[in-house]
Amino acid sequence: MALRVGVVGGGQLARMMIAPAVELGVELRVLAEEPGMAAALAATAVGDYRDADTVLAFARDVDVVTFDHEHVPQDVLRALVDAGVAVHPGPDALRFAQDKLLMRARLDELGMPQPDWAAVADATGLQAFLDAHGGRAVVKTPRGGYDGKGVRVVSSAAEAEDWFTALAEDARGGELLVEELVDFTRELAQQVARRPSGDLRSYPVVETVQRDGVCAEVIAPAPHAADRLVEVARGIGEAIATGLGVTGMLAVELFETSDHRLLVNELAMRPHNSGHWSQDGAVTGQFEQHLRAVLDLPLGDTRPREPWSVMVNILGGPAQGGLEERFAAALDAHPAAKVHTYGKSPRPGRKVGHVTVAGAHLDDVVYESRAAAAHFLE
Ligand code: ADP
Repeated sequence: MALRVGVVGGGQLARMMIAPAVELGVELRVLAEEPGMAAALAATAVGDYRDADTVLAFARDVDVVTFDHEHVPQDVLRALVDAGVAVHPGPDALRFAQDKLLMRARLDELGMPQPDWAAVADATGLQAFLDAHGGRAVVKTPRGGYDGKGVRVVSSAAEAEDWFTALAEDARGGELLVEELVDFTRELAQQVARRPSGDLRSYPVVETVQRDGVCAEVIAPAPHAADRLVEVARGIGEAIATGLGVTGMLAVELFETSDHRLLVNELAMRPHNSGHWSQDGAVTGQFEQHLRAVLDLPLGDTRPREPWSVMVNILGGPAQGGLEERFAAALDAHPAAKVHTYGKSPRPGRKVGHVTVAGAHLDDVVYESRAAAAHFLE
């Protein structure tokens, strides 16, 4: 009988596991939040991932449960484990991707390079950190942030007043994370796949370009990266995957500073936007690799198929219409481009697809991928 993987969450990451699941002969079942989501094609259940009974019922008929996102609460994850369900990544690993304060503390214990940081409970604590760090810093809500929501550069404690008020009103109480404002020259991402039995495979470190806190473009491998930098990035990724007991795909977002130090920004324990290039540009794409890893199957080769791959995100525009015509025009003008769409209705800034081009010359690959994606701009 085919192995069955249950994915909690019906977004584009679950959607992009469908094709490799079919190729591997794996049955993919998705618990979607609502009908008509990106992964609707594989949705076998619709329900609330915060409800233990819903998730337990969904998990009854699968060999392993994995995730499209990191928001499944710890008590639900633990109920699954207690019921004997294989959960990858497991709750003990996933909590470090769910809470940035827990992550910072644990990465310090593992000796990972990080920005200076502190947990602050009130304006006085934040002001003290600001005073010690040149008057500017980055404040983050520890939980629930994504695409730059929950991240704010501040130069006075008053600028985080609303977040402190929200904390005070939250019955669980809590603290904000404050970090030094890193003067980085670029952002990188290191992906590692890890099986429950411990085997690891790392992808080449990539450069990610953010606009307005959202990933706009990824270049794989990262250009102008010294061999030593590539090794250090890989070492950080593998130390974190092993140290936290991650199973499945791990992405480590990194800052590169002007003196070529790497500092960990944050973690994702699932396929990640920084790895979409690998679908078309690597021997084993991250979605296939994630399925292999969570099923504890042998991992695939992570080498690039071509010297360069560039992935450009397609974001919904203010009044985007005619997606079908744009899609056809992009395919027509750029036959070497792989255009992926997520079946989502476009809203301003919403990720609705991406384009990947792979080839021998970086300039050509950058040009082709941007030109193909530009068909979708207003
Ligand atoms: P999210 O969880 O929303 O992705 P991140 O923690 O990755 O939030 O932050 C979003 C972006 O904000 C980062 O990609 C980076 O550009 C910027 N940023 C985050 N932390 C820092 C920092 N300590 N110093 C400078 N820039 C930062």
